[in-house]
Amino acid sequence: MLELSVPGRDSLLHPTVIYDESGYVLIDTGMPGSRDSIIGLIVQAGLEPDKLRGIILTHQDIDHIGSLPFWLSAAKPAGLDVYAHEGDRNAIDGNEPLLKVSPERMAGLIEAMPESMRETFRSFFSGDNANVTHTVEDGETLPFGGGLKVIHTPGHTPGHISLYHEASRTLIAGDAMVMNGSELSGPNPPFTPNLQQAHESLRKFAAYPIDNVICYHGGQYSRDVNKRIAELAEQA
Ligand SMILES: [Zn+2]
Repeated sequence: MLELSVPGRDSLLHPTVIYDESGYVLIDTGMPGSRDSIIGLIVQAGLEPDKLRGIILTHQDIDHIGSLPFWLSAAKPAGLDVYAHEGDRNAIDGNEPLLKVSPERMAGLIEAMPESMRETFRSFFSGDNANVTHTVEDGETLPFGGGLKVIHTPGHTPGHISLYHEASRTLIAGDAMVMNGSELSGPNPPFTPNLQQAHESLRKFAAYPIDNVICYHGGQYSRDVNKRIAELAEQA
């Protein structure tokens, strides 16, 4: 789990790296200017940044896909494997607006970027590129870190996924849950357009023995995880 600070935000974001002898995958990419910081954290963790095997996006929100254009641009001409769920693919490919970022806000975001970043970012969302190279499905096991299971957990966005790393019994929850201080909580209502569906998604986690959860917002939680998630699903 990386602890990524974002200029202008007081809370950290938590992209995650899953690695094995063949390299690593990055799960979520932070805000548009975050690539260099993420590489710094990867080096700090003792990994070789060049051994990137792909990027998995838990969903389309800008704080998760923001720096993807710059990873893709740096990977040219070989390209980069990018994994996401079909339900969010059109937004990530730039074929439809992001669910929670209006075209006006997107224009403002681009305006606020250093000029050197604007063109790369803009072309990413032009709709001309297939940014997502692999669509993933519920129940699929990706061949990273000895096995990484995809759990479709819609509600926060239609194509939101969580990932279960079998070897460490760790759930990478994306935004399906958040940490509120030291307590594991359900999805954040103001940013969850289909709250009922997001609550139903929590029930899916019961099928996995979980020792650790990583919430993108709030970080790690490791106390009696399945019991806590069952409580959250019950309360919902
Ligand atoms: Zn988020």
